Amino acid sequence: MKRIKKRDQEYIKQNNLKMILDIIKNKRSISRAEIVKITNMSPTSVSRIVGSLIDLGLVKETETSSSGVGRKAILLDLDLESVMTIGVYINKHIINVGIVNFGGEILYRDKIELNPKGTHPDTLINKACALIKDTIKKSKIDPSKIIGIGVSLPGIINSKNGEVIFSAPLSWENIHIAKVIESELNIKTVVDNDVKLKALAESLYGVGRNSGKTALVNFGRGVGSALIIDGEIFRGVTNIAGEIGHITIDPNGILCECGRRGCLQTFIVEDNLIEEANKVKKIVDIKEIFEAAYIGESWAVSILDRAITYMCITINNIVCMYNPDTIVLSGSLVEVYPEIIKEVEEKCRTSIWTPLRGTFKILYSELKSEADIIGPSTLALDTFLSFDI
Ligand SMILES: [Zn+2]
Repeated sequence: MKRIKKRDQEYIKQNNLKMILDIIKNKRSISRAEIVKITNMSPTSVSRIVGSLIDLGLVKETETSSSGVGRKAILLDLDLESVMTIGVYINKHIINVGIVNFGGEILYRDKIELNPKGTHPDTLINKACALIKDTIKKSKIDPSKIIGIGVSLPGIINSKNGEVIFSAPLSWENIHIAKVIESELNIKTVVDNDVKLKALAESLYGVGRNSGKTALVNFGRGVGSALIIDGEIFRGVTNIAGEIGHITIDPNGILCECGRRGCLQTFIVEDNLIEEANKVKKIVDIKEIFEAAYIGESWAVSILDRAITYMCITINNIVCMYNPDTIVLSGSLVEVYPEIIKEVEEKCRTSIWTPLRGTFKILYSELKSEADIIGPSTLALDTFLSFDI
């Protein structure tokens, strides 16, 4: 089947358009001659394909630049305002919405804070739809330019049919969120897991820009990871690849939110660190553990030290499985408490399996909360941008 599909002329044409568009998107300001060099295609083919992209309004010719021998070359760039997508991020504390241009830049954004106890799907989806409508209105952007909405949320997602199969943080099961938003707003909608979309954003527009194989690991209310290979999300058969937080470390360990015992994330997540601390001292916020550790209280030092050990175990497991060139650390534990980063790096120096030491860089999320909007908007762009010529 694959071979038959690949031979199909229309498929090849669409692929060539997408490939050259991706090159222009990646380089921003590039000449036709440079595209010929990169693709090994004939100058005639490149000119024809670029012509189609210009006709579609996606690419425009920009100022001429000297090529060094006195000749002028016309450069190509994206027409940034030609298509827009909307990125939506939902968790139990917040809904973030942003309108993103063709170059992955957020033009307008808005948010609403939520009561974490009121996460009923109808309530949250209604609030998200109202916020999207409001953001479009306030932005004064021509709505006909918006080609799709991407939604990012924590959980197991069927990205093909837009269904949230299971989200422990939201307490949702089998919610066809994409369908509901589509019918409410009349804009095509796609949905995916938040960590996968964060990884996509960092790999295309953030700290992973120069990496071909980026693994992102998120340490926050849960532990998750995602792998991006050459700009594509690695999903596995049912889009669950990367759920490293639920690797069993201790079958007799403490109960995880997934209902099983001793999962890797139970050694790292905030709630469990707070619970552990409460065996010694009554606290309500993880901040108190960090504060106590600064002044050398041994109970706090040992809780954080154990969490850091398991963060390094997570990183080691990821590099053993995927052999990436870059690991991007993200999530509240590293974003809100950046002091933990140095200690993770220090410990990783000795805890990573020897053959993998020095084969990857550890970097830190550059886009932070912007990734929550750029990720889903990029997925919407990839899913709904069509080349009808
Ligand atoms: Zn679990």
